[in-house]
Amino acid sequence: MRLTPEVHLVGGGNLGFNLSDDFDSHVHIVDGGRKLAIIDTGTGRAEAEILANARADGIDERKIRYVLVTHGHLDHAGGAAGMRTRFNAPVLAAAPTADFLRRGDEDAISLTAARQAGIYPADYHLRATHVDLELQDGDRVRVGALEIEVLETPGHCAGHLCFVLHVGQQTCLFTGDLLFFGGVIAIQRIWDCDLPAYVRSIERLRDLSVDAFFPGHLALSLKNGQRHISAALARLDQLLIPSSIV
Ligand SMILES: [Zn+2]
Repeated sequence: MRLTPEVHLVGGGNLGFNLSDDFDSHVHIVDGGRKLAIIDTGTGRAEAEILANARADGIDERKIRYVLVTHGHLDHAGGAAGMRTRFNAPVLAAAPTADFLRRGDEDAISLTAARQAGIYPADYHLRATHVDLELQDGDRVRVGALEIEVLETPGHCAGHLCFVLHVGQQTCLFTGDLLFFGGVIAIQRIWDCDLPAYVRSIERLRDLSVDAFFPGHLALSLKNGQRHISAALARLDQLLIPSSIV
């Protein structure tokens, strides 16, 4: 599904548009012309469906050069191992996420807890992957003619990143699980969910002037995306916590 001339949505599950596995996050492809980047990978259980969606959009998968991961939760990072192998493309993530994924640590990404809580079926597992580059705040990843800027936004979990894509005067924000349509957030009782860090991360988005708003689940906005950030900040400015999607 082509969202903008540069951004395609090629995967997503029940908390999305059912383009791939039921549990997949949104899977985006950024098209920089000669090179493409995937932002988040889904669980890894529907790679064929995701690639079929990409091809249906006219995407040449051989141009995929980067696999960017917002955070280590299975629905976002589970497919990184498979995509790295298939495309011979480096996986890029924050240092904590890289550590979890390299070790295939299902406790660290709270998959063990999520399975026990009945959030994931018993047969959902994390396939460990090499992570080629650890991203830091302010890093820029060049994808063909485009550049993706890295924002460290911990809080939903450790090692969470957002990605900012500037296309001409347009600012596209990929929020992962930091912030959703309507200013909703994702707080869970997991070991690395950190509310003060979460609030600081949302504060960082206050002056971004986002046009297209691409979260990891649910609805998205092609313009006026800053309104979702403003909605969360309006709650925080009243010393309240935004609603949580889960
Ligand atoms: Zn998550």
